[in-house]
Amino acid sequence: MRLQIKRYGAAALAGIMAGSLALTGCGSYASSSELRQQAEASLLDQADSGSGSGQGLQVEPDSGTPDNPGTRDGQGTPDGQDDRTGGPSAETIRVETGLTTAPMPEFESVKDDVYVKTEDGGSVRLRSSCDTGSDANIVTYASSGTRLTRTGKGSEWTRIDYNGTPAYISSAFITTDVPETPAAPAGGVCVDSGEVTLNPSWKYAEFSKINTGAAVLYRSEAGTRKNITICVNAGHGTKGGSSVKTLCHPDGTPKVTGGTTGAGATSAAAVSGGMTFADGTAESKVTLAMARILKDKLLAAGYDVLMIRENDDVQLDNVARTVIANNASDCHIALHWDSTTSNKGAFYMSVPNVESYRNMEPVKSHWQQHNALGESLVAGLKGAGVKIFSGGSMAMDLTQTSYSTVPSVDIELGDKASDHSQATLNTLADGLLAGINQYFGQS
Ligand SMILES: [Zn+2]
Repeated sequence: MRLQIKRYGAAALAGIMAGSLALTGCGSYASSSELRQQAEASLLDQADSGSGSGQGLQVEPDSGTPDNPGTRDGQGTPDGQDDRTGGPSAETIRVETGLTTAPMPEFESVKDDVYVKTEDGGSVRLRSSCDTGSDANIVTYASSGTRLTRTGKGSEWTRIDYNGTPAYISSAFITTDVPETPAAPAGGVCVDSGEVTLNPSWKYAEFSKINTGAAVLYRSEAGTRKNITICVNAGHGTKGGSSVKTLCHPDGTPKVTGGTTGAGATSAAAVSGGMTFADGTAESKVTLAMARILKDKLLAAGYDVLMIRENDDVQLDNVARTVIANNASDCHIALHWDSTTSNKGAFYMSVPNVESYRNMEPVKSHWQQHNALGESLVAGLKGAGVKIFSGGSMAMDLTQTSYSTVPSVDIELGDKASDHSQATLNTLADGLLAGINQYFGQS
């Protein structure tokens, strides 16, 4: 029923740790498609079409065997600029043809889905401007099959929406044909790899302190695949997470409500340890069991699933979990149980009705989505017969909410006194699936 997409880790992790965009995920070799295409186009006009590039850039049309991503060091890195000193690289040829000095091209306004398409399955650069003369404007890398929202049609360049900001991609690598196995998430994720690590260029990534771990993307093989990715975040489970602090808000302002960390604090535990159930079971064990059950149900229902944590420990703090969800999923659901002892029922953490908080980005642009998703989840749980606490929500200023740019909810599925047998978790997962279906208008 499901497929775990092939995974790789070491090179990606090394890249993260070195803070190097080029080594993360598919970025290192992937951008060769864009470069090669540009080079080929330019070389057509040149009598001398020898392979005169310096080291690193591959300009020969047939040179693009996808090697081990870790071995094509240097491509797409800022030191690609060094190649200009050694000979006619793809980038310098491009400069000579005048593209980079051209003004912003004309775009026909559209709003539709397009897909990245490369011959070798590699990735293409998304840039903040229509200029290939430097790597400074690279926003991220989009792998072949990635779905993008096109906002502007142009001949050489296509304008897309990247997390609410315009970005540009070479039109040569865009198709409206839905790939046979379309990649669910937009935004530079290497969907040909099961592992999704924190890309340091992603918005708010710099606020994360623990980010050497990886989430894992599962692609549904159900006949009714929905092309919607749900991030399932098993709460807690990061060794050392409680002794590291991260900013509560990206703008450094203090928390507006209490919670695990009191109101007024500007930083909080990167990942807290979680509570212990009345029977001695750690919350993190139960959230993991819950996540696994929910994952299977989602995949069977046709959703793709981004699992933040699949074992007792993942080295991803709450900021990293959130930023990965922002870039690799369509919504983020963090699973928790509360620390009270009254078996009070399930509820979601709603966005506090505090003006300063709701006026702070990214909360300002997304709080209504968060609350709408929360309401749907609670409705789904209620429909499955799950006991609901009070009105089904509690206002809480959470790190997750403060950094989320996709619909994002911390759902509390009960508390220390609640039953957490497999049968109960199964019922909870049915309720969550119903809520997810409701939110996305699915059945
Ligand atoms: Zn918790």
